[in-house]
Amino acid sequence: MKIYRFRYRKKIITGVLKEDVLFPIKGSVFKDFKIEDSAIPVGEVKLLPPVSPSKIVCLGRNYQEHAEELGNDIPTEPLIFLKPPSAIVGPDQAIIYPAMSQRVDYEGELAIIIKKKVKNLKEEEAWTDYVLGYSCFNDVTARDLQLKDGQFTRAKSFDTFAPFGPCLVTDLNLEGLHLKTFLNGKLVQSGNTRNMIFPVPFLLRYISSIMTLEPGDIIATGTPAGVGPMEPGDRIEIQIEGIGTLSNVVKKIDMRR
Ligand code: MG
Repeated sequence: MKIYRFRYRKKIITGVLKEDVLFPIKGSVFKDFKIEDSAIPVGEVKLLPPVSPSKIVCLGRNYQEHAEELGNDIPTEPLIFLKPPSAIVGPDQAIIYPAMSQRVDYEGELAIIIKKKVKNLKEEEAWTDYVLGYSCFNDVTARDLQLKDGQFTRAKSFDTFAPFGPCLVTDLNLEGLHLKTFLNGKLVQSGNTRNMIFPVPFLLRYISSIMTLEPGDIIATGTPAGVGPMEPGDRIEIQIEGIGTLSNVVKKIDMRR
């Protein structure tokens, strides 16, 4: 099932896509819901980020070739960091190039969206009970600031540095999903989720042994090889098999207010 969150006639609605038409749901995507009969044409809505998380937990260096391309060792345990929810933008919203940076990179990633509160997930528990679905995520990074600071917070946290969407997909087999990134239509990343160093069930157990995961929280599972810079005016697209394409443009504007 493909679930979209969108604005339609000044209302924010969550709906399920069936044959290019959106059907609003009644209830909560995290619990029980019914699909209503009223149909909304996709062309009349503005898509929003699929959920509003309390936190975004990201994986660094979870694909071997990406660790190597940045000259890092292959990690022996997951390397995690946080991105603030204030960085989220939806499909087709602009990524704002900050004046503080001279090198802003794309990182195409598979996002996991948490369904219900989980702490200390056990190996014998069904991890899929805690996952609502999957989406595309762009872990936008000011690479020069990441290297300068020696830690990730500033480089990863600018407003608009977490494009997310276009929908969430509830039923996906994670074994071997192709992930592709296109910069102005040119293929720049081509990876496969089967090549994650630490797979999703392990990540859920590891992260939930550190912090409680809440409904709507996002785990961005790391980027494959091929990261590189974007410039103002560029269009960046993250495409994952079975989910769709997350598309955003880069802009340089004065953010002071
Ligand atoms: Mg990343």
